[in-house]
Amino acid sequence: MKKRLSRRLLKMLDDALRRFPELQGRKITVGYTAAHLGSALVPLRAGGAAKLTIRLKVRSLKYNTIGHELTHLLQGLSKIHLSRGKPENGGRIPFGEKQCDIWTLARSGLFCDDAPTYLKLPRAVRENWPIYARSVRKLCIAALEKRKSYRLYMRWLELRIKDLARKPMSMSKDNGQLTLPF
Ligand SMILES: [Zn+2]
Repeated sequence: MKKRLSRRLLKMLDDALRRFPELQGRKITVGYTAAHLGSALVPLRAGGAAKLTIRLKVRSLKYNTIGHELTHLLQGLSKIHLSRGKPENGGRIPFGEKQCDIWTLARSGLFCDDAPTYLKLPRAVRENWPIYARSVRKLCIAALEKRKSYRLYMRWLELRIKDLARKPMSMSKDNGQLTLPF
């Protein structure tokens, strides 16, 4: 995608990769797609781990999309490493699109610049994403904690997010920003 490599894009890739220490030192091929926001070739065998590829739609690219695709790479890598008896730091990231969204948002506030695609969000939350982003991220982090003892952590998360939309939004006096009572 050399022709489309703008400074903005390079900076975004660099910023995003800094949040993925697990991918440090690995070669990742970044390609271009017009069809989707992004896609990843998820490595499923040890041989594939050497060739990591993501594709991104450059126009109006969001950190959330980059983070989502990089998390897909980790889903594959963590499975390979686990099956070879070498669990990655932080444990395995389970496969699945919703799981990918949750782990991406939990990873860093950087990836909160756009609403996740697969996680179920009430309309009010999706349409007012900037207002809800931080609260949803906190809930994602809580859900990963919950997962250690509760199998239905994704359902728990989506119900908590649904609750968010029901709570009245309040205007904070200090900075004039909308805050949620979370
Ligand atoms: Zn995906």
